[in-house]
Amino acid sequence: MKHVLSAAALIVFTASISAQSTTPDAQTKQLATSIFKQLIEINTTDSVGNVSTASIAMQQRLLDAGFKKEDMYLGGPNDRKENLVVRYKGTGKQKPILFIGHEDVVEARREDWTTDPFKFIEKDGYYYGRGTQDMKESDAILVTTFIRLKKSGYVPDRDLILALTADEEGGKSNGVDWLIKNHRDLIDAEYVLNPDGGGVDLEHGKAVSINIDASEKLYADYQVMATNPGGHSSLPRPDNAIYQVADAMVKLQHYRFPFELNAVTRAYFAKMSNIETGQIAADEKAILQAPPDQAAIARLSKDPIHNSTLHTTCVATRLLAGHANNALPQMASANVNCRILPGHSIDEIRRELVRVFDDPSLTVKYVDDANEVHETAPDRAALPPAALKPEVLNTVEKLSATFWPGAPVIPTMADGASDGVYTNAAGMPTYGVSGIQLETDDVRAHGKDERLPIDSYDEGVQFYYYLVRSLSSGA
Ligand SMILES: [Zn+2]
Repeated sequence: MKHVLSAAALIVFTASISAQSTTPDAQTKQLATSIFKQLIEINTTDSVGNVSTASIAMQQRLLDAGFKKEDMYLGGPNDRKENLVVRYKGTGKQKPILFIGHEDVVEARREDWTTDPFKFIEKDGYYYGRGTQDMKESDAILVTTFIRLKKSGYVPDRDLILALTADEEGGKSNGVDWLIKNHRDLIDAEYVLNPDGGGVDLEHGKAVSINIDASEKLYADYQVMATNPGGHSSLPRPDNAIYQVADAMVKLQHYRFPFELNAVTRAYFAKMSNIETGQIAADEKAILQAPPDQAAIARLSKDPIHNSTLHTTCVATRLLAGHANNALPQMASANVNCRILPGHSIDEIRRELVRVFDDPSLTVKYVDDANEVHETAPDRAALPPAALKPEVLNTVEKLSATFWPGAPVIPTMADGASDGVYTNAAGMPTYGVSGIQLETDDVRAHGKDERLPIDSYDEGVQFYYYLVRSLSSGA
């Protein structure tokens, strides 16, 4: 029942958007840009930065806009990694939505960049600075949206919770994980929107797709190691640590993890098969049949992107072996990096590697985020995703029709993991939704001279404003 009502309200609401601009008014633009600048210029790297400074600055912005201190929480495991949680109180007709954004950024060295990475610089139609793509632009958009709505006197039909957090990119104090473990009540929600994922792909200035990350693979590293008494290289023996590891890696090269689809990748291929043409479209349809067409799977899997959507992947990424040119190696080891499909645990994949290598004298251990090596891996698995919530999909589709007419909205599975891994595991379905548009060949997150087109930022500001309103004014 709620759905029928919200769809009807949405039609009225989106009809009013088309009459309006997809770019913000001057006052909003000024607010959004000043918040963005402030965040970029607060260094939040793990090495020398301070996430708390950013959290406190955003808390002040929200206090100034009329949010009450008792609806806020500032805290974390140590004084450099404090997270900010703000609750925008609604009427409670629907369950809350949680918005998450990580405030930390990847390291950036001044000498590697053309501009100072911690200065917000406007140049040639772009904003430059570390975090302009990942993801201070979206943190600023979320804060701007909350402030705009509050100042307009808007009362949502559900609580809107904003969590700005630490250590998504690295470090030992992941804020989302910490909040779930320590303050679950503060962030409990029906679902989560995370603008760290999703977004609009542009090709030559034209929007080609609006992606919603509705699931993600799990990241894991494994150490594969052989040891040997060694000896003088003038007297080789049949058993050799380097050959042992090399053999294992060749087995891995030829091994393919099973083909598997879930609710999100099914929806993805169903959609893509209507957009693509020729053999690819036919193959995308054929893998959705029961039973799936094996030849189609094989053809699609030749493409690295399709391959990663259809399978868990594991690949050798580093080798370390030997200690002298004239000595038999006493040790050889390889790092194997895996991207695991939802529903499979990190230890399950470790055991699968043991089976593939089929060499009892090799050890296969788990390497955690802090580079510590463990005999076994966690039983943690990403939950197999449920189908995308119609409320979210419909709203994004309707807004996209105004912002980027003609471009399809596509549910995707991200190849890497974001903070969604924690919220999903905690039972809150998490979607990567963003109105930020980027040229597919200008992705600079984590890289040098990170930048964002000014137009993209402006539309991203408007898109989120309408998105949040639509999702909280239907019931
Ligand atoms: Zn990110």
